[in-house]
Order: sequence, then C-alpha cells, then structure tokens
Amino acid sequence: MGKNNKQFVEKITAMEDDFAQWYTDVVKQAELVDYGSVRGTMIIKPYGFGIWENIRDELDKRFKETGHSNVYFPLFIPESMLQKEKDHIEGFAPEVAWVTHGGEEELAERICVRPTSEVLFGEYYSKNIHSYRDLPKLYNQWSNVVRWEKTTRPFLRSLEFLWQEGHTAHATREDAEEETARMLQIYADVAEDYLAIPVLHGKKTESEKFAGANYTLTIESLMHDGKALQSGTSHYFGTGFAEAFDINYLDENGDQKPIHQTSWGMSTRIMGALIMVHGDNRGLVIPPRIAPTQAMIVPVAQHKEGVLDKAYDLRDRLQDLVRVDIDGSDKKPGWKFNEYEMKGIPVRIEMGPKDIENDQVVLVRRDTGEKEFVPLTELEERLPALLEEVQQNLYDKALEHRNEATTTAVDMDAFKKALEENPGFIKAMWCGDAGCEEKIKDETSATSRCIPFEQEKISDSCVYCGREAKEMVYWARAY
Ligand SMILES: [Zn+2]
Repeated sequence: MGKNNKQFVEKITAMEDDFAQWYTDVVKQAELVDYGSVRGTMIIKPYGFGIWENIRDELDKRFKETGHSNVYFPLFIPESMLQKEKDHIEGFAPEVAWVTHGGEEELAERICVRPTSEVLFGEYYSKNIHSYRDLPKLYNQWSNVVRWEKTTRPFLRSLEFLWQEGHTAHATREDAEEETARMLQIYADVAEDYLAIPVLHGKKTESEKFAGANYTLTIESLMHDGKALQSGTSHYFGTGFAEAFDINYLDENGDQKPIHQTSWGMSTRIMGALIMVHGDNRGLVIPPRIAPTQAMIVPVAQHKEGVLDKAYDLRDRLQDLVRVDIDGSDKKPGWKFNEYEMKGIPVRIEMGPKDIENDQVVLVRRDTGEKEFVPLTELEERLPALLEEVQQNLYDKALEHRNEATTTAVDMDAFKKALEENPGFIKAMWCGDAGCEEKIKDETSATSRCIPFEQEKISDSCVYCGREAKEMVYWARAY
C-alpha cells in the first residue's frame, strides 16, 4: 500500500481506540450524513439515502405481500388528542416538540409534532370502523417523526428520523396477536437475510415496553463494541386505544365490540446497526444484498490506450447482472481503492493493461481483502457467486461475534465480571420483579433487552435477588 493510501485511512479513528469517534468518522467519511443546522438533526446524503431506500424497498415489498396499504397522515397532533391515552402521553411527553404559534398568532391549543402516530390512527379508526365488514384495517405509513432528544448521534438518536409505522385494527385478540408476531418476523427476515445482522427475538419486559402497549415484541442485535441495539419493534395494544378513542364495531350478531390494535416500526436507526455490526477500521462494510453499488470497476493505468473503453464495456456487460458502477475519473487508483473501501462497496473490479492482455479482471472483496484473478469468460458466473459469499460471510462473522460475546450469569458477581471482561449479551434468570430490573440497571447500566421466545433454564433463582426465577432474560448495555 502506497503512502497516499495510508494517509487517507488514517483519517478515521481505530475502533479499538475510541468506538464512538470511529462511528462518527465513518458516518462522515463514507458520506452517509452531514449535520443539520438545528442541533441533533441530520442531512442524509445520496449514499446514505441509497442504502435506506433499499432497506425501505425490501420492507415495503413484504408489507404489501402481507396485505398492507400505504397511507399518509398529518405531521401535527392537537394536544387534546394526545392526552386521550394516559400511558401513551406519559411515555412521550418529555420529548415532544410543540408548535405554539401560527405566523405571529399564538394558537388557542398547542399542536404536537408527531413523535409517533397512534392517536391519529385511533381517531381515524373511530370514525371509519363501524362493522365487522370494515375489519381488518392494515395500514402503514412511511414518514418522519420528531423526538426532542437531549443527546444525539447520527442515525442512533436524532431529533427527527425517518421510519415506517404500521397501524392495524382487528376484530379479535387472536388476529391482532398474529399480526404482531407476523410483523416482527418480517423485521427479523430483513435484518438477517438482507442486512446480514443476526437478531434475538423476544418480548420486552413491562418497564421496557412501548408506552400504552399491552406488550412489545422486539428484535435485538449486537454491535462490535458489545452494546445492543433494538432493531425493530411490534406492539400489541389490546383494546386500550379502542377504549380511549371509542373504536367499536358491530359483529355478525349485531353485538358491539372494541377493536384490537397493533403498531410496528423500523427506523433509520437500523443504519446505525449496519455500520456498527459490519464496519471495520477501513470504514463501512455493506452487505451485497442491500448495497446501492455491489461492484465498483476501477480502471488501472487508464491513460493507456483502450483501458478506459474496455472498462466501460465491462460496465455495460455487467449492468443487468449486478448493481455495478465505474470510476473513470482522473483520481489515482489508490485513492479510489480507499474511497470505495471506506464506502463499504462489497467487490472492487480492477482492470489494467495486463488484465486486458490476459482476458481477465481482478476481483477484490471488501470483507476480507482477498484478491482473485477471474477470466472474463467466467465473470458472469463468478461475480454473483462471490457477492453471495460475501453476504454469507458477513452474517457468519456477526453471528460468531454475538456468540462469543454472549455469557451466562447466575449471580451479580458473574454478571458484572461479564460486562467488564466480555461485553455483550448476558443470559440470566429473572424473578419478574421490576425492582430487580431497576437495580441491575442502576448498578451496571445494563438493561433487559428481551425475554427470548426460546427460553433456557440457567438456574432456579433470580440473578439479582435469589428468589424463584420466572424467565430467562437477555441483558446488555444498549444504544
Ligand atoms: Zn429478582
């Protein structure tokens, strides 16, 4: 590697030295975002938005396949409407942004900028659901929401972020609970199959559930630094909102019944997971299935006659097969290598005079740095196969890291030792008392991440109080 290449790489902090700084450096250097003018807001740049668009398209396809329709509801919520569901408002009030003036005039009633839209959908459903024939309602919206966070970081916690929020209404508890589980599975599938992020599936404890929900299902992933990230949630509301908003329907027998609701969301926070699960000290690593550009052609010695033409021919030849791009600019090849490594483009295709002479190209994988010479006649077969190998390797590596960073603890000494020596998930038994959960959080800053669907019996007693254990819980420090 030449001198100039080295300088470029040195612009990012090593993750072992300062993980938070590494994250900030990558987000900036890979040209994902810029900071907005208001503290805590972000400008998502073309490359960052391209990745988000691919995630969005994968999710949207699955939502439609399962019968959902996209809608759009307003950004504004009257204060009186937000007050209708007590638990919900208590949960969100501290981070709501309020509109108090319209032009110069003070408003008679404050208007909230949506932090989430349950109440808007509740109000709408109360007016539009009358009979069992109106059910189910399977709506989703792609939108922005605003939460006035105190400390912010791009993607992980920002004042305004993008997401989708599904809001559904059902005749029975059974239908709504099925929907809640179905949507969690969709999030898990997209995370694992497309983002190459292995996830734990489970239920949130009472203190960690969504404000106003009966229960919250979650997928949780593990970052390089051993912290967890909640990566998608699906909530079952029971009839809570139906009671607050008076949403009833007449069943087949003419009896009046309350509806059962769900909501579910995945946001641009998942971009943070993508960065922190796969990235390395050379920058981003984007899984091929989600990468806006899967292969980047970099001509070598392009000033030599015929090289650039051949490289463009190669681009034309591959573009129906994979998402391919070419950098024919006059920047030095070494500079280009570094730039596309920083952006995490899965495969680089090098082509120089010698390769042209030998009817071959050089393929370089971003995840391992391995190079291979491939005859042009075999490229159509080899390139897609290589992309799949990269995809699989990223998933396997992430799963291996999670397994290595998962410890079991039967008492608090083991719990604290695990957090210090091998930060990651801790499997430990819990008595079900919120008091124990609170004390664990106070003493270790680890929170309960989920009560996994796949339970194991590690011991008979609660890791904190020693009383009889009810469930195994995954604990971790989290973003
Ligand atoms: Zn306990």
